[in-house]
Amino acid sequence: MRVLLVEDEVRMASVIRRSLGKEGWAADVTTRGQESLVMAAGVDYDAIVLDLMLPDMSGFEVCRALRERGVWAPVLILTARDAVEDRVRGLDGGADDYLVKPFALAELHARLRSLARRGRPERPAVLEVGDLRLDPAGREVTRGGVEIQLSAKEFALLETLMRHAGDVLSRLELIEHAWDIAYEVRSNVVEVYVRRLRDKVDRPFGRESIETVRGAGYRLRETT
Ligand code: CA
Repeated sequence: MRVLLVEDEVRMASVIRRSLGKEGWAADVTTRGQESLVMAAGVDYDAIVLDLMLPDMSGFEVCRALRERGVWAPVLILTARDAVEDRVRGLDGGADDYLVKPFALAELHARLRSLARRGRPERPAVLEVGDLRLDPAGREVTRGGVEIQLSAKEFALLETLMRHAGDVLSRLELIEHAWDIAYEVRSNVVEVYVRRLRDKVDRPFGRESIETVRGAGYRLRETT
């Protein structure tokens, strides 16, 4: 296992590095955000430990930049303050986990093992299909930069379609993801909401991105 440690407190960095070494992990250390981006582009790290307060950029910016560059290594952020907004911002910005300083090294190791087990699937914080963009954290949808107002259910349905863009989703699969267990499956609620979504997401833009696949369900396609 190979870890990238982005931490400007030299003593802290060396303590973490040594402890990871004892676990059999190799750790590369940098004190700079910019340098970490270069390193992460060159090496396929199993995990990245990222301090939020760095001299040249914030950990939030580093995390966002990593994801924009297609680096999907699990990111664990280290925060100095136990501030809820820092943790929320970090996780919503594409980080996978966090630890509040001071922390026990054994916990850091366990969390890194857990993150490394999950691998590196793409998991963008903001979903994009063509020029359609959905931000689950900011609850925002835009097409070509134009903001689209959706109800909570319309948003949930679109998010599901975008998470599986290109795949055919049956009515039942859409219901499973966007409605809770109390929902009455008999009704035509999916058809109703797909129609509403098309009226907001496709029609005003002259698109037909939400396809009906006869006898199978619906599929979101990339359109231009
Ligand atoms: Ca720091």
